[in-house]
Amino acid sequence: MSQFDCAKATSYLKDYPKKDGLSVQQLIDSSNFGGLTYNDFLILPGLINFPASQVSIEAKLTKKITLKAPFVSSPMDTVTESEMAIHMALLGGIGILHHNCTPEEQAEMVKKVKKYENGFINDPIVIGPDFTVADVRKMKKDLGFSSYPVTVDGKVGGKLVGIITSRDIQFIDDDSLKVETVMTKDLITAKKGISLSEGNELLRSSKKGKLPIVDDNGNLVSLISLTDLLKNQEYPNASKSFDSKQLLCGAAIGTIDSDRVRLEKLVDAGLDVVVIDSSNGSSVFQLDMIKWIKSTYPHLQVIAGNVVTREQAALLIEAGADGLRIGMGSGSICITQEVMACGRPQGTAVYNVTEFANKFGVPCMADGGIGNIGHITKALALGASTVMMGGLLAGTSETPGDYFYRDGKRLKVYRGMGSIDAMQQTATNANASTSRYFSESDKVLVAQGVSGSVVDKGSITKFVPYLYNGLQHSLQDIGVKSLDELRKNTDNGDVRFEFRTASAQLEGGVHGLHSYEKRLHN
Ligand code: GDP
Ligand code: GDP
Ligand code: 5GP
Repeated sequence: MSQFDCAKATSYLKDYPKKDGLSVQQLIDSSNFGGLTYNDFLILPGLINFPASQVSIEAKLTKKITLKAPFVSSPMDTVTESEMAIHMALLGGIGILHHNCTPEEQAEMVKKVKKYENGFINDPIVIGPDFTVADVRKMKKDLGFSSYPVTVDGKVGGKLVGIITSRDIQFIDDDSLKVETVMTKDLITAKKGISLSEGNELLRSSKKGKLPIVDDNGNLVSLISLTDLLKNQEYPNASKSFDSKQLLCGAAIGTIDSDRVRLEKLVDAGLDVVVIDSSNGSSVFQLDMIKWIKSTYPHLQVIAGNVVTREQAALLIEAGADGLRIGMGSGSICITQEVMACGRPQGTAVYNVTEFANKFGVPCMADGGIGNIGHITKALALGASTVMMGGLLAGTSETPGDYFYRDGKRLKVYRGMGSIDAMQQTATNANASTSRYFSESDKVLVAQGVSGSVVDKGSITKFVPYLYNGLQHSLQDIGVKSLDELRKNTDNGDVRFEFRTASAQLEGGVHGLHSYEKRLHN
């Protein structure tokens, strides 16, 4: 007969001098054998008293931007162009457009993202009555949509006389007909000042696809599209600006003078957040750039980096950064640590930078080395607010580039921006941004990345929800209902950690099977 009373088991815990496992501080302090990577530790499970679906993974990207999910796609030319950025934003994260292209091409990508979804379309494409059916057909091809309000002078602000949609021209054979002869003139419109909800209600009750908004004199002010209401319902987590309901869009730039001209074009196109893309962010060029951006575009959010030490972070925070990007040499395509002897194991980098930056309310993004959902949870537990992913998203259908077959597998190229391939593309394009991995005066390119291929991962419309649900389940296992709670309970020592020896890592992976198939989601 034991002297301990089972009915009071939890009360005996207080007799122990310390809680089971390690606090985050103890984990870091006692890793005196070297820096930590995500694989070197685990988080101990906590009490589950809520369903995973209740877990909020809302996260701060910058001082002023909050996302429904902490997922960011990397500014790499095999990862993020407009297609990726649109879908990352629809699914609750954000995409950062790469800059290995001309400023005009990059600005065009920003426009595509910003135009994808709207509340009020304040600058709708408008035509005049003497446009022809052929003109409208061509515009549909170029612009991707086919409904155009018709005003007397063909401009926004002109008197609204009709609307033309694909339905109006569908059965017209004579392409030379004037729009005024085929457009719909009997219009349902709404008065300027109407709310978006009232506008949507009118669209629903009138069963129309477009609602032109006019002022007291019947002049066109803006437009609401039913498609946008449907997109909003389909993607309830979408990252959108509060007023325009347009998707949030980020883009990367470098730190040379021409990047200021580039940024001007991106801002004109509607950019919400700029990422200053340097492998070592603590440079005077970057500090000058941050100060210039903050004084020139006070409303634009600036993410600075990359950094891996507290000292680097302090400089960027002082210069005005609204967010930091952490990582040097941890990326899956990266050889910086080998070649430059510079860098830091990512777990240690994330802890040391965020422990400092979070005091100032500057959110941090853990960039590079995210290979699975567990890595995401660990980065966030160590203090990051969001994670940036390259390799994990590479190979999805929303990335640039075509699939090809090799060894019976369907593959896509994934390459480092410091690979010879990517740098040569930069060098041959006079207007492309100078890559973060070499300067114009360099005669010999020194690679800091490799070029390779990854297996087809399907669409991110399946993959990101998998990350989303997986992260919710992971936080549930830790016993926290939100990322804020994860942060709070890690800081106060309630969330506990454990080192993983080499054999523990083997034990934690699949082992002892003759063969198996690793399917991550349905
Ligand atoms: P349409 O009926 O063929 O014009 O196209 P949809 O209504 O299906 O989709 C149009 C999409 O393009 C919506 O998401 C709009 O927000 C977006 N869009 C962006 N700018 C404009 C614009 O100037 N005019 C129109 N009609 N749509 C725009
Ligand atoms: P939300 O649904 O959480 O975004 O709530 P809001 O108060 O911001 O939206 C007000 C109204 O606008 C609701 O009827 C929403 O469904 C609708 N709405 C939200 N986003 C969009 C959008 O992108 N386009 C359109 N047409 N309506 C939207
Ligand atoms: P991944 O998610 O594939 O592990 O890492 C992506 C990150 O690696 C990017 O966001 C970027 O910070 C970094 N990166 C991209 N290209 C290169 C490169 O060529 N060399 C190095 N050192 N890092 C790169």
